Amino acid sequence: MALHRVSKKEDTVDDIYSTPLSEAVLPKYQMPRESSDSRIAYALIRGELALDGNSSQNLATFCSTWSEDEVHRLMNDCLDKNMIDKDEYPQTAEIESRCVHMLADLWNSPDGRGTMGCSTTGSSEAAMLGGLALKWRWRERRRAEGKAIDRPNLVCGPVQVCWEKFARYFDVELRQVPLEKGATGLRPHQLRKYVDENTIGVVAILGVTYTCDYEPVAEIAAELDAIEADTGWDVPIHVDAASGGFIAPFLEPGLVWDFRVPRVASINASGHKYGLAPLGVGWVVWRSADLLPDDLVFRVSYLGGDMPTFALNFSRPGGEIVAQYYLLLRLGREGYRRVHQACVDTAQFLAAQIREMGPFTLLYDGRGGLPAVSYTLTDPATAGFSLYDLSDQLRIRGWQVPSYPLPPDREETVIQRVLVRHGVSRDEIALLADDIRAALTRLTSGAPSDDTRIGFHH
Ligand SMILES: *Cc1c(COP(=O)(O)O)cnc(C)c1O
Repeated sequence: MALHRVSKKEDTVDDIYSTPLSEAVLPKYQMPRESSDSRIAYALIRGELALDGNSSQNLATFCSTWSEDEVHRLMNDCLDKNMIDKDEYPQTAEIESRCVHMLADLWNSPDGRGTMGCSTTGSSEAAMLGGLALKWRWRERRRAEGKAIDRPNLVCGPVQVCWEKFARYFDVELRQVPLEKGATGLRPHQLRKYVDENTIGVVAILGVTYTCDYEPVAEIAAELDAIEADTGWDVPIHVDAASGGFIAPFLEPGLVWDFRVPRVASINASGHKYGLAPLGVGWVVWRSADLLPDDLVFRVSYLGGDMPTFALNFSRPGGEIVAQYYLLLRLGREGYRRVHQACVDTAQFLAAQIREMGPFTLLYDGRGGLPAVSYTLTDPATAGFSLYDLSDQLRIRGWQVPSYPLPPDREETVIQRVLVRHGVSRDEIALLADDIRAALTRLTSGAPSDDTRIGFHH
């Protein structure tokens, strides 16, 4: 019967799963010759995507995995808006500029209304732009002094890979300061050994990827002041506040890490992390307009008007930027504070449970940095399992909880880290804690017994 058949003539679909496209393995190497019905192609791709992990259980990512309906709608409304085309879409450009100035103000720029900054695809692109401005300014200064400009270096602690990329792509030596025993980030007294006249800047991280630590920006600046007093080298700081830039101002307004520190020249943050915007937006802001060298800014006329641009990309979607503005407007400072405080409370709730389970030592308990928890095995040699085994066990229930070694010189320490984000509820984390306990029972007692087997409860 014709119930499960596509009628060639009218091209109507009776059943999505009995058509030429759905009754074949989908093409992987060549485009199909014929077109297919949009509903069938959509259903098949959607089915394939269901094999991806469930993003709300991805406790490894810092990025947004949940958005309000209004964000979905604005993203849809903006699907056709190219943010580079500032003459055609002047209101999108205006909204980008409002976000820059609001962030400059949030980060206490002395000239929030007049300073420069821009949106990017994320903190990685923002880091490239911040790093380039540091390199340009160092080079101008050295040229003016008649000194060599062939060996720039950048000093940092355990940075995210974007800074390694910056250094390699733009020919700058990366001087990564190793972690001291017991430390979770760069410590000021380490700097003197690494900084010299060729240092274009120091990167301080607000929310170290590996440990969730806030590096002490004000103390790092004070050490650089002392180094300048002794040597004359005036080394600026760029703060990589990918995560912390959208948390510290709300939860710890008294923590001085931003443009209140005179040595901080520029700051980047990821809108799509704790900025709560959907994927694809980051921000970089300079303390004042004069810190962004003129010849890094290009002026293009072929889109109409005369528009300055500083970016690695050209065409980019405008929706994420509009969604960022929506969130700043909708939540306000108080809303961001409430959202992030709820995450911190949930992280501390998990930390308390982890502490009681027995085999773990907390490395970070969700206090004083990002809403997250990290821990190690107290005695890896006698535990009878590794944190990697535990990650595998949790994966059976769909949880993605990463285990990894700390960066040098603490690479012998393997840790596990759970990030709590907007959209991750207390109940969800309570279920995770139950699953960790069940996994521990299995891992330490050999074969699963009936009452510890996942999904089987008497
Ligand atoms: C995530 C992160 C980055 C990279 O940011 P993207 O927005 O993913 O490009 C850089 N630095 C730190 C500290 C980060 O946490």
